[in-house]
Amino acid sequence: MNIFPACVIVKGMADAAPVAQNAATRQRNLREANLALVLGHIARAGSITRAELATATGLTRVTVSGLVDELMAGGLVAEAAPVPRTGAGRPATGLTLATTGPAGLGLEINVDYLAAGVLDLSGATRVLRVHHRDQRGRRPARVVADLARLADDARAAADDEGLSVAGICVGVPGLVNGNGLVRVAPNLGWHDVDVATALRAAIGQPLRPVAVTVENEANLAALAELHAHPEPAPSFVYISGEIGVGAGLVLEGRLLRGPRGYGGELGHVTINPDGPPCRCGARGCLEAYANQEALLRAAGLPPSTEDPAEVLRTRAEAGDRAVLTALADAGRALGVAAADVVNLVDVDTIVLGGVFAPLTPWLSDPVAREVAARTVTSSWAPVTVRAAALGATATVVGAAGSVVRAILDAPATWLALADTGRAAGRESVG
Ligand SMILES: [Zn+2]
Repeated sequence: MNIFPACVIVKGMADAAPVAQNAATRQRNLREANLALVLGHIARAGSITRAELATATGLTRVTVSGLVDELMAGGLVAEAAPVPRTGAGRPATGLTLATTGPAGLGLEINVDYLAAGVLDLSGATRVLRVHHRDQRGRRPARVVADLARLADDARAAADDEGLSVAGICVGVPGLVNGNGLVRVAPNLGWHDVDVATALRAAIGQPLRPVAVTVENEANLAALAELHAHPEPAPSFVYISGEIGVGAGLVLEGRLLRGPRGYGGELGHVTINPDGPPCRCGARGCLEAYANQEALLRAAGLPPSTEDPAEVLRTRAEAGDRAVLTALADAGRALGVAAADVVNLVDVDTIVLGGVFAPLTPWLSDPVAREVAARTVTSSWAPVTVRAAALGATATVVGAAGSVVRAILDAPATWLALADTGRAAGRESVG
């Protein structure tokens, strides 16, 4: 799997100078590449012996043992219980990703909730906290202060499980530039908010040298989907339905952020130029026809409905006419917008996430019909419409997962950072 992490930029092998490398540089690059190679095999296998690793990687057993020792010393790999052998010889000891040690902390600021989640190296969600509150009209500093409390709580719970947060990634429902500045989050009313700096200042426990990065929420949810379906180089558009509607576009296994980081604003694709006004300032955007509030309004439900996806799903199952009509109309609007994406970039799968995920049984047919009717390729290259693997937790899982993915992709960088952290700890103690 070849995934570029959205949140954590780690200088890896690709950045190494291609020319005029001296022997020491070549040796270091080779070690870094082999550490990533071995760790990647352990991650994919779940459990694998040193001998199996040597066969799988083509490295000698001595080299594999040295690399494994380094990964174990850095807390990335652990020994599993020995697997009994039926034949002669000692039982072989399996190696697995460590379930204690470095972990990723994902945070999410959304319009009507805040969330925090911690993933261990295997990608298992070990801590999850959600705080429901409408964030509209609140000062960004207040929202970030609440998020910091949630982050502190999640970090403490992670500590109790023997996990140590190695990086923080924050998902926001807005446009984020390459430096983590939220340029605009229309549904929060935010402009030019430096979430990373504010969060660093607000977090209680002193942060070790961990990166705090910020990314669009739909992009992170798309990454979570990518990690959950690790088939080779998938292409899909992940449509995230909340109060806002966003999209994460994955082409041939890579998240497409756009050269300035502002791609994926499907919620502001025009459905009807003369349609209702949108918070972005334009008219007739997809968001006005298919977001959570539009669905509730069309279904005759109040905008403050708690757990709207569950309420809509239950009523749809019961055959509530207003709800079924609302879902069919929203599905048509989603299909019109998704058809543009298929025509432009040739994705073969449309993934419905957020509140749309549990409503996929009622949304998928109208989406598929509109896409089929509006795409040139539909007769010989049809698209699949399916629900996202994760529901409301997709963004925090994608955020925490991007921290974990960065460690797995470049373990040497993590090992060096861990060394620096230990040295700093020794100095401060001394
Ligand atoms: Zn708009």
